[in-house]
Amino acid sequence: MTPHTGTPVSSDPPWSVDLRRVADREHWLLASYAMRSCDSVGRVHPEPLHPYRGPFARDRDRVLHCSAFRRLSGKMQVFTGEMGEYHRTRLTHTFEVASVARTIARTLRLNEDLTETLALLHDIGHPPYGHCGEDVLAEVMRNEGGFSHNQFALSIVSELEQRFTGFPGLNLSLEVLGGQDTRAHKAEAAVGMAPLLEVQIVDLADSIAYDAHDVDDALQMGMIDYRELRRLGLIRRAAAQVRARYGRLPPSRKRQALVHELVDLQVGDLLVSATDRLLPWQGRSAEELRVAGVRLSHSPELAGERGELERYLFDAVYRHPRLMRVRQAASDRLHELFEGLVRRPERLPLRFRGRASETGVPRAVSDYLAGMTDRFCDTQHQLFHSQAAGPLTDW
Ligand code: MG
Repeated sequence: MTPHTGTPVSSDPPWSVDLRRVADREHWLLASYAMRSCDSVGRVHPEPLHPYRGPFARDRDRVLHCSAFRRLSGKMQVFTGEMGEYHRTRLTHTFEVASVARTIARTLRLNEDLTETLALLHDIGHPPYGHCGEDVLAEVMRNEGGFSHNQFALSIVSELEQRFTGFPGLNLSLEVLGGQDTRAHKAEAAVGMAPLLEVQIVDLADSIAYDAHDVDDALQMGMIDYRELRRLGLIRRAAAQVRARYGRLPPSRKRQALVHELVDLQVGDLLVSATDRLLPWQGRSAEELRVAGVRLSHSPELAGERGELERYLFDAVYRHPRLMRVRQAASDRLHELFEGLVRRPERLPLRFRGRASETGVPRAVSDYLAGMTDRFCDTQHQLFHSQAAGPLTDW
């Protein structure tokens, strides 16, 4: 392990500090409990420090430039390309999470670079076809150690991405890997030592973003309507704010204003609760807060309303007949491809045939399938069942 040392905080008086220096910027601008680059454990493979980017900013750039990140544009979040062009993909969802998370981090004076990295990384391990893809892989891998997209994200950034000559993966800082690992082990992370505040914020921003944009997408596609939605406490509150601000609006403007208000209400509530929660901890370090198990959350009132909204979305949207038909067809394709490749591993691309000798065939097949975009998976499924007997294509 190589700690990110070498940039001590300057001893200059505050009025002459050079805020272009990462250590000084973090020292003067961040809260005491923010994660600082100089306290990072470092990377697995030693690397010299960059002259003007901090370690977490480099991590962010590595995630942004990796091929798994680009493939997020071809992966469905909830809705597929067959259902129009309006809705979110995994990539646009990821940017919305990063935007919400950065706003929260900046307001609470936490490490924005680390927060952004974690946000860009958080869904990178998602298989094709949204949650249906994850359900299929979890089912077929149940006797082989299971499958979780959070765990697969760690395989991508530690082994599968090939961007550097000296080592496999992206060699990210240990705090970034640890944050993603926390997501992979949510139950354990909910007790005892708390995750870094930056990690917690990304988790909260994720759910704030998807609650709001799933309402937006489902309304736009006509899967739900305002009459049903207005039964929900959080929607009623957001709609009241919209009316107070703009009066009566036409449906499309009302939808946009409602979604804006939904994000604003949730972020505002979180900032008030988090500020109260953190007040007694001023002057304490990130590590002290972790040990003390300090966790950020919404107010109990808003948490209850969010629960109600999420239960509604689950039944009315995620189980909507239009979506269930798409899910079933996608599930069948993925099942067939998994079982076919386990039977005939010689049809795996060369890299995954090599991986099969280390991990076993089922895991190598699962890794290969999990890295695919929706359309790539459709194409490989057709190719597998065509007359051609050669190996399928690597992504
Ligand atoms: Mg997400």
